[in-house]
Amino acid sequence: MKKIAILSLLVLTSIVMSGQVNIKKCITTRLVKQELISNPDYAKGRANAITENIAWIKANNSEKTTINIPVVIHIIHKNTHSNIGIGTNISNDQIEDALKILNEDYSKTNPEYLNPPRNTFLNYWGNPDMKFCLATSDPSGNPTNGIIRTSTTIADWDADDSFEANAMKRTVNGGMDAWDPSKYLNIWVCNLSNSSGGGITLGYAYLPGLQSWNAWKDGLVIDFQYFGTIGGASSSSDGRTATHEIGHYLGLMHTFCEDADAQGNLICCDNDNNSWGGYVDDTPATKDIYFGNVTANTNNNTCNDLSYSNIFTNDVLDMDENFMSYASTAWMFTDDQINVINATLNGYRSSLKNSTVNMNCDGSVGTGLNNYQLENLNIYPNPTLGKLNIVSADKINTLSITNIIGKELLFTKDFLANTIDLSSYESGVYFINISTDKGTHIEKIIFTK
Ligand SMILES: [Zn+2]
Repeated sequence: MKKIAILSLLVLTSIVMSGQVNIKKCITTRLVKQELISNPDYAKGRANAITENIAWIKANNSEKTTINIPVVIHIIHKNTHSNIGIGTNISNDQIEDALKILNEDYSKTNPEYLNPPRNTFLNYWGNPDMKFCLATSDPSGNPTNGIIRTSTTIADWDADDSFEANAMKRTVNGGMDAWDPSKYLNIWVCNLSNSSGGGITLGYAYLPGLQSWNAWKDGLVIDFQYFGTIGGASSSSDGRTATHEIGHYLGLMHTFCEDADAQGNLICCDNDNNSWGGYVDDTPATKDIYFGNVTANTNNNTCNDLSYSNIFTNDVLDMDENFMSYASTAWMFTDDQINVINATLNGYRSSLKNSTVNMNCDGSVGTGLNNYQLENLNIYPNPTLGKLNIVSADKINTLSITNIIGKELLFTKDFLANTIDLSSYESGVYFINISTDKGTHIEKIIFTK
């Protein structure tokens, strides 16, 4: 009997501990609340972003085409991890794996599609139709592969400390400054730690609304062990922390209630069905956080949906499979969540949607130099007297021309023509930057009048 008692105590302890271990999985809500208190401009920016979103959705707008987002990934690694693939200096393979998972999740091509562990919410499962692509030009117009590796003496960044939680976003604090957050999605991958209250933080992102002077904080922070699933990733990483955090970055709230009553008891609420959450009414009301797996037998039903004004006409199960939950298996966004995402991309983050940054959408980490096979591309004559022929076996997604000091003179998406005329430019050296699904190519052109 004693053995059993000890055993059950152990089981109980491990359940309680696993709750604690996960409780701070994402600190977005706490950070956002702190920022709202300390920074009145964020409250205004957030309110404006919400008003714009609601108007966009009310007007029955929708997004018809795939949205490509240029991404820069800042790998903030310990100075003792100078070799790529060692410790915090994660490998390109791990980065590619993380991008692959992210792009599957945002195009409804994730492994669960067609055969999800349960079919409960199949009819609500939408497709964000977004692609996250590594930037191939930096803010000065120079070629890059979109991965910036920064060595630091700082061993870890305490997510529980309001200063350290953003310090990796500043070069002066041992991290790396953001690239223009209106044109790039900044992702900082670093070693996160927690100093208080137990639990571990996997990542976080600000909800839309940071204004210019504090926009340096905008973007995602992710622990290096929860970015991707291979290499230095933890065995418990599902690679979907970025999926969840980008959901926040695009305006989504958690699907579970984050409120308690006066006595501190958790309560039911429809956390994302209000102005803050963008009136997402196809996710059920949910009390408490579910950390477990979602299988065909998962039947959590913490709140009675008939008490809430949402899309459901009967009391449904909790949508634990939603990416904005904390379940250890999640695989979907709903149609209403995607409306919020698209409203944000056409509102507060429209400059990101319309970014003229060159990017590589093939999911591989290039060299930052010419990595696109020249046999597929022919640019001639060079030197040229003005007219330049551009023949590509692959569709050209973006084409830009920069001058010798990196100033962009031309940017075009979905280039279909065969020629470019440089004759309105001064004689000199120019760079043509071409990106296709197979990679990017930069060609130096000499133009003489
Ligand atoms: Zn979160």
